[in-house]
Amino acid sequence: MSSKLRFKVVGEAFSKKPVEVPAPEQRPSEFFGKYVFNKQKMFKYLPKKVYDKMCDVMDNGAPLDRAIADQVAAGMKQWAMDMGATHITHWFQPLTDTTAEKHDGFVEHDFKGGMIEEFSGKSLVQQEPDASSFPSGGIRSTFEARGYSAWDPTSPVFVIGDTLMIPTVFISYTGEALDYKAPLLKALRAVNNAATEVCHYFYPEVKKVVTNLGWEQEYFLVDEGLYGARPDLLLTGRTLMGHSSAKDQQMDDHYFGSIPERVSAFMRDLEIQALELGIPCKTRHNEVAPNQFELAPIFEECNLAIDHNMLIMMLMKKIARKHGFRCLLHEKPFAGVNGSGKHNNWSLSTDTGVLLHGPGKTPEENLRFVTFIVETLMGVYKHNGLLKASIMSATNAHRLGANEAPPAIVSSFLGKQLTSLLNHLEETDEDELITLSGKQGMKLDIPSIPELLIDNTDRNRTSPFAFTGNRFEFRAVGAGANCASAMIALNTAVAEALVSFKVRVDALIAEGKSTTTAVLKVLREDIKACKAIRFDGNGYSDEWVEEAANRGLDVEKSCPLIFDRYLDESSIKMFESQNVMTKTELEARNEIKWETYTKTVQIEARIFGDMAINHIIPIATRYQSALIDNVHKVKDIFGDEANELSAENMKLIKKISMHTKNITSKVDEMIEARKVANRIENAREKAIAYHDTVNPYLDQIRYEIDQLEMVIDDEIWPLPKYREIMFIR
Ligand code: ADP
Ligand code: MG
Repeated sequence: MSSKLRFKVVGEAFSKKPVEVPAPEQRPSEFFGKYVFNKQKMFKYLPKKVYDKMCDVMDNGAPLDRAIADQVAAGMKQWAMDMGATHITHWFQPLTDTTAEKHDGFVEHDFKGGMIEEFSGKSLVQQEPDASSFPSGGIRSTFEARGYSAWDPTSPVFVIGDTLMIPTVFISYTGEALDYKAPLLKALRAVNNAATEVCHYFYPEVKKVVTNLGWEQEYFLVDEGLYGARPDLLLTGRTLMGHSSAKDQQMDDHYFGSIPERVSAFMRDLEIQALELGIPCKTRHNEVAPNQFELAPIFEECNLAIDHNMLIMMLMKKIARKHGFRCLLHEKPFAGVNGSGKHNNWSLSTDTGVLLHGPGKTPEENLRFVTFIVETLMGVYKHNGLLKASIMSATNAHRLGANEAPPAIVSSFLGKQLTSLLNHLEETDEDELITLSGKQGMKLDIPSIPELLIDNTDRNRTSPFAFTGNRFEFRAVGAGANCASAMIALNTAVAEALVSFKVRVDALIAEGKSTTTAVLKVLREDIKACKAIRFDGNGYSDEWVEEAANRGLDVEKSCPLIFDRYLDESSIKMFESQNVMTKTELEARNEIKWETYTKTVQIEARIFGDMAINHIIPIATRYQSALIDNVHKVKDIFGDEANELSAENMKLIKKISMHTKNITSKVDEMIEARKVANRIENAREKAIAYHDTVNPYLDQIRYEIDQLEMVIDDEIWPLPKYREIMFIR
């Protein structure tokens, strides 16, 4: 890009006006879910018997009877056509962190020479997209390309534009999951089964336990023109070079600041469209870094919340373009300022109430509260390495461990009250326990419980898994990730912990102990066992890394090695015993993780090398020539005096030479390292090679380029700078 063009693009970006977003004619409560085939629409479009059956499927997980699928499809088609739809697609979540769709028209031959609008139960329930072009980790080779998508009736269908979108799972011909949704639904079933059984100690009437998820989506907006002028942003979603702006987030003036007009028009547009699609958007605000924002809906059932998050990421990207922006969901688009995460607020509730809510009115409620807290901690403790693997990626690796995000160690913050409550329980001796038991006399005797909610509002922003009053907040999830990955691991881990809890409690009851005594005894064991996961201190500090290692927590930092945790014996046992994933599926997924890691670094290294050699070196050399020319001319005029007069320029000429020399040789070395890595066949070994031998060059070369950016004539610098990209006026 020429300097003239750069200034033109920057100028245009700064003078853009907000896009007009007409105020909706109705109130949000009136247009919420307008394009969703929810119960209300089902009631209108389906025969009563079919409607009742669908409610049973959606509310109680009853199996879907194929016989009614045709009737559901007929009603659905009618509604969709009334909404202007002409096509349908199965909408699924392959292992790429995006969604996939293949559209089919409603039309079929009428065998009289014409066409009819047709949509059968069969095409609602099941389709066969060619699976060979999606990552499968070797589960299917290309010659066995068959994959099936199957309707997930627990997440309602919706219309976008002219297309009826049907949320589906995606599985291979041989039954293995090729997506996120299939194992997610199994993990949710596992936690439902295990938690319901444990609930029965306290509330025999509970029928099911639902997992809730409230995600908070962080993102950056950049002007589209500036984005287009940065090949690195375009191809990798992040800036691979760029000196920090003199001012960025150090004044803390962006967080919760007033939202720029162009951005608030975008947000309005996004929220209206999201509400129409049934996504309960609630919160929006500026985030910490310049041009960084957040959107959070009200929490929902986990599977639905994840579909909605996938949908919102799609909408964000689409609507941003309408407003002349590009939406960046990369976890670290700009070095030196905060990156973007996606806090996952997680909780369990029954058909009668919330499970992680304390304090209760009765001692049983308190015991229930403590049980679910402790067993969640047990799951997180036992599988802390796996949970980290579940959120790890080449892109999120840039954010974790940086000084604004949780470190690459999973620990849990509980707050003072809950901590002292668990300490107290741990220290209670056997005799006291017995006097505590018995329905009438049972008091937890912990005065701090009632203050819990009031006082527990203290926050520890450094904790990756923090208790925040009625939920845990898993903060390490990446902004661009599918939350399902984290939710599969977390829910399965909690399910496993609850199952083990119940086995041990039941054994004590069989020995003649009362339920309360048995529960307390096992809880005490577990409080002790998982103590290492509790950490209320500063998670950003170096001391914590050391202490965590001493406590036996997983402190591995290398992304490809962190993925190994999926194949630990304890992980395989956990996933298999809870019927969530088989060893084959886990192995296949890891192949994909390693391959994706390699490809991400490979693409970055390639574009970076190109930019260094084609964009930066020529400009640096050009500026250096101008300086050399100047030195000669000064000499012509001033003769012997010139040495002193040109001393600074001579230094600069040398400095530029040094940087360009380093860049060229490091780019060569990086290419060489890639060649060596590319010859490795094994996906894991290759990813490790990319991590250990290619990745480090990115930072090293960046350093040289960022130094050049500070000395080279601004007028000829070929890329929009941080200060130009990061501030939308
Ligand atoms: P924060 O203070 O963490 O930024 P926000 O209000 O932005 O809080 O977002 C909190 C998220 O947590 C929202 O999506 C909210 O609906 C969700 N949330 C609140 N209570 C629960 C709960 N019991 N279970 C799951 N999510 C919850
Ligand atoms: Mg939060």
